Amino acid sequence: QSPEIGSRTRTRAIMEKYGIRTKKSFGQNFLTDLNVLNNIVAAADITKNDNVIEIGPGIGALTEQLAQAAGEVLALEIDADLIPVLREVLAPYDNVTVLNQDVLAANLPELIQQQFSDPTRPVKVVANLPYYITSPILMNLLASPVNWAAICVMMQKEVAQRLTAKPGTKQYGALTLAIEYQMDAKIAFEVSRKVFVPSPNVDSAIVVLTPRQQPLAVQPFDKQKLFGFIRGCFAHRRKSFWNNLQGVVGKDKTTKDRLAAILDDLQISPQLRPERLSLAQFIELANALHAAKL
Ligand code: SAM
Repeated sequence: QSPEIGSRTRTRAIMEKYGIRTKKSFGQNFLTDLNVLNNIVAAADITKNDNVIEIGPGIGALTEQLAQAAGEVLALEIDADLIPVLREVLAPYDNVTVLNQDVLAANLPELIQQQFSDPTRPVKVVANLPYYITSPILMNLLASPVNWAAICVMMQKEVAQRLTAKPGTKQYGALTLAIEYQMDAKIAFEVSRKVFVPSPNVDSAIVVLTPRQQPLAVQPFDKQKLFGFIRGCFAHRRKSFWNNLQGVVGKDKTTKDRLAAILDDLQISPQLRPERLSLAQFIELANALHAAKL
């Protein structure tokens, strides 16, 4: 079909024809640049062997490009007003299913089983995310028991920097570590705010997450508790690790003495700031505190 949905002219025509006004409350910023759209599909390395889940298809600009490259596409859109539009503009593609569904409430393993003709194929998530729920969506994807072959998503540039941050930087934190625990993360490319309708007031970046190549050096005694602990350690970023730790574990004299001994044992200086610690160090420390019943 020509021109494609992601072109400015076609996007404008669709919005006009169906009387679409973008909704801020759903984070609607439609992408209108075919180059960027194609680069997203390329960054996700989509082939005809892939099942793709798209979160928030909007009016279908990315969905159309995915339909051309992938085996099958399942698009989950929360905005009921867009469903008839999507069904109509995507009618030429018989490998696309559009569902009116809040991704945060979706049972993804069940949808994969029900909606793809061969659920054993690699499943990739590709999306221009609604920015107001970027972290919850990522956390949900990672918490679900699906083995994602790739998660290739556009988000606010600052969040992309947090996901891919190195220890010792301002951006490094609980979110970085939650991602690193399961996935290798890289920024594929940055995207100017000008290519969206309407234009958001932040720049964007595409992040590609793929399953970790290197297994974790140390396993945590409990993943949930590990991340509760990590969040506690970053509660006051400007304080030293020692101060944060007391907030998590306790401030009485005996606890402090035992804590100091454990840190000494693991060769972690209490004066460091929490962003200096690697994931492996957080895991070792959480395990040691658990073993010491602290
Ligand atoms: N994919 C389209 C594009 O690139 O032009 C639209 C992207 S727009 C940034 C985000 C989309 O996510 C919107 O269509 C919005 O309605 C949808 N959305 C917002 N919250 C959602 C949720 N909880 N579940 C599913 N879709 C959601």
